[in-house]
Amino acid sequence: MERTTAFASEMTWPDYDAAVRDGRTPILIPIGSMEQHGHHMPLHVDVLLPTEFARRVAEQTGALVAPPFTYGYKSHQKSGGGNHLPGTTSLDGATLVAALRDVIREFARHGVRRICLVNGHYENSWFIIEGIDLALRELRWDGITDMKIVVLSYWDFVDKATIGRLYPNGFPGWELEHGGVLETSLMLALHPGLVHLDRALDVAPARFPPYDVYPVRPEWTPCSGTLSSPKEASAEKGEILLEVCTTGIVAALRAEFG
Ligand code: ZN
Ligand code: MN
Repeated sequence: MERTTAFASEMTWPDYDAAVRDGRTPILIPIGSMEQHGHHMPLHVDVLLPTEFARRVAEQTGALVAPPFTYGYKSHQKSGGGNHLPGTTSLDGATLVAALRDVIREFARHGVRRICLVNGHYENSWFIIEGIDLALRELRWDGITDMKIVVLSYWDFVDKATIGRLYPNGFPGWELEHGGVLETSLMLALHPGLVHLDRALDVAPARFPPYDVYPVRPEWTPCSGTLSSPKEASAEKGEILLEVCTTGIVAALRAEFG
């Protein structure tokens, strides 16, 4: 069958069924959030980026991309500015876990036996693992023991040498990369019409005490909503990141899924 799309949602059910029922075709599930990303970027950065990584990886591996999870777990002040900010629209942890468990179980019912969660929102991390764990437990109860699930966050594929090229003046750390050079560069490479770099606030990297307080102290989050400055972002850096992370994810899936 001639393949015309990497997106499962754009296929007819007979084509989809033919592609997945023998269990060999991996399904990639992008998972993000609706979250403010500073004055210069849209609310869906954490969805757009993993969806595009998944699409590129699918083109190279023959995997299919599932519809993304467009809401995620609550924004944490030290990694996403905080859940109190306008636009940020989040799920309770239990809701996200249950939704992910349900979707994995449904793909298993179709015959899928290889799944990769492609995460674009740091705060989802532990809830993804819980959703996977509950799904695998239910599948075991149904006698399905050959499901394999990979979970990854695309930024973990950025190696030290690339960090040195992208951050010649020092790397703030992934926690403070919310709306900073990484995400802004990727968005400039992929969706330049959605980025308004002229509106970006050039703030110093956020500084937090080594503890949290609830309700959050809004004054701890920089007025920009970002946790570091995007001013050094560029489409060229975005292209480097696309290449490095896509190559790394493809290698990981070849290693795990054969
Ligand atoms: Zn983000
Ligand atoms: Mn996020």
